[in-house]
Amino acid sequence: MSQQESNCPINAARVTLHEFYYSEDPKTMMCSKCHPCKLGIYDAIKLIETIQAGGGDAGHMTLLRRVADDVKAGGMCKKGKDNADILAALLNEHAEDLEQHIKGVCTSRECTPLVTYEINAALCTNCDKCREVCPSFAVEGQKKEPYRTGFLPYRIRQKRCTHCGECITVCPEGAVYVVEEKELERHEVGT
Ligand code: SF4
Ligand code: SF4
Ligand code: SF4
Repeated sequence: MSQQESNCPINAARVTLHEFYYSEDPKTMMCSKCHPCKLGIYDAIKLIETIQAGGGDAGHMTLLRRVADDVKAGGMCKKGKDNADILAALLNEHAEDLEQHIKGVCTSRECTPLVTYEINAALCTNCDKCREVCPSFAVEGQKKEPYRTGFLPYRIRQKRCTHCGECITVCPEGAVYVVEEKELERHEVGT
């Protein structure tokens, strides 16, 4: 996914830094000549991945700030400094989004480890569309048939779900919904 296609600023910044770090195009690639850029950009990618995976804390933002400053000061070319600016812009303009991710919420629902898909049994009509479309065989349930009763309700087996979102797209009843992981934790603690 390119930066332009991403609605999540955290994911967009990670994709851009990743493309820079791993590019093999001489025009856009990192040349690895100077340490602040070579080590810092790699660290920044890993720090952002940790935040996206739900393992972030305030210390990660401090470390990202340090990387941005080091690459800006120590990078020997415009490419490195431009990527430092991208990181600084993330910290300056999207601090609230970063804090939300650290709390376990990606409002764009792109940082998939932070969300869980569930089925609302009250809305589900057992049409089977979600099970048919699921590429991971994560949906269980029995299709409703005329003149029969006692159908197995639909549910998502979380260990198989890859958070691709196909089921939410096809469900005609709006029965598939997304739960933030931290909401789940709060619910489990409260019950
Ligand atoms: S700042 Fe420029 S010269 Fe230094 S490693 Fe990065 S791309 Fe290479
Ligand atoms: S999000 Fe994707 S993998 Fe998960 S249940 Fe829906 S279709 Fe299957
Ligand atoms: S697509 Fe929606 S209504 Fe149909 S079985 Fe799945 S959750 Fe239920």
